[in-house]
Amino acid sequence: MVRRTVINVRPWGREAVDLVIEDDRIAEVRPTGGPADAGGGEVNDGEVIDGRGLVALPGFVNAHAHVDKSWWGMPWVSAGGEGGTQGRIAHERAERDRYGIPSADAATAVLGEFLRHGTTATRTHVDVDLGVGLAGIDVVREAVARHQGAIQAEIVAFPQDGVIRRPGVLDLLDRAAAAGATAIGGLDPAGIDRDPVAQLDGLFAIAERRGVGLDIHLHDGGELGAFQYELIIDRTLRTGLQGRVTVSHGFALGELAVDRRLGLVERLAEAGISWATVAPPRSAPLPWREMIEHGVGIGLGTDGIRDLWSPFGDGDLLRVALGFARLHGLRTDQELITAVELAGSRAAGFVGRTVHDLVAGARADVVLVDAENVPDALVRAPARELVIAGGRVVARSGRLA
Ligand SMILES: [Zn+2]
Repeated sequence: MVRRTVINVRPWGREAVDLVIEDDRIAEVRPTGGPADAGGGEVNDGEVIDGRGLVALPGFVNAHAHVDKSWWGMPWVSAGGEGGTQGRIAHERAERDRYGIPSADAATAVLGEFLRHGTTATRTHVDVDLGVGLAGIDVVREAVARHQGAIQAEIVAFPQDGVIRRPGVLDLLDRAAAAGATAIGGLDPAGIDRDPVAQLDGLFAIAERRGVGLDIHLHDGGELGAFQYELIIDRTLRTGLQGRVTVSHGFALGELAVDRRLGLVERLAEAGISWATVAPPRSAPLPWREMIEHGVGIGLGTDGIRDLWSPFGDGDLLRVALGFARLHGLRTDQELITAVELAGSRAAGFVGRTVHDLVAGARADVVLVDAENVPDALVRAPARELVIAGGRVVARSGRLA
């Protein structure tokens, strides 16, 4: 057993403690003996890491990424192609081979950026289509393996190019589910496939048969979006998949009139459906408070980073949390803390965990930042002084170890 003790850290900015780590787990959280130069840590066996009174947070959970299609670490790619969801899909399909996408090297690089910024678990969508087949899943698995277990990745087999409009994709998704993908994805059942019942029936049949989750990209706005939430709620309840279904983006929820929105939030809660958002500027703010009050899980994600969809993104989930806070007009300390919780402890379910926090029994994923408190850490998003993933130090002073 490998034992490490991170002494004199302030979990969530509270009073200082020592975190005792055994292998990949937090074994104990105990009162600190004080700073290292005052004798703290002297009675420990194993390695002692001086936490210097820094703020400690659980590792960030990226609830929505696309690590298979980034060109991170490669020369700059200028944006091109048409706008809109279909424009981006077409551009990506036309150009990705030229940049070697999907690439294990680029996926490894972008996962390294996640780790450097303190993200220790991610849910990543991986393109599955008639062009690449299931190759992207192998690429992502290889990239995760290169990080030797530091970052955990839940794989969603994602039909980026559509489902019903591309005969053969449902079979690919079925094969991906049989081969260990933890969830299958979907994409604008109305807006892209123009046949929402057929797409959702097809996806739910696979999820039910293979015992996997569902995570559906839904950009469609207004009532068209709301109508599809209702289709998803009905099917989730009918198939007994409560707690296994996520809507990603789901912008329409923030666009509806109050009564309509509240009714949907109640039904989403009843069906155990969660929401993943990247809080893009100019999108409608989500009713995040109503969602939390009703128990609708919210996860924050980076979405694609430096890919053929967008040049933006740097893999820092704390900055995504800051974007969420700004988009939603958060202001009080408690609200700002909630934004950081969404980036970590509240997102445990997005990566198959029941608990993800700085508590005994949790995976030892710890991020230290030099900040006065959690709200200060959020608004400045300072360098990560130390990142521990699965009990191992993976980054120091903002650099990968
Ligand atoms: Zn996405």
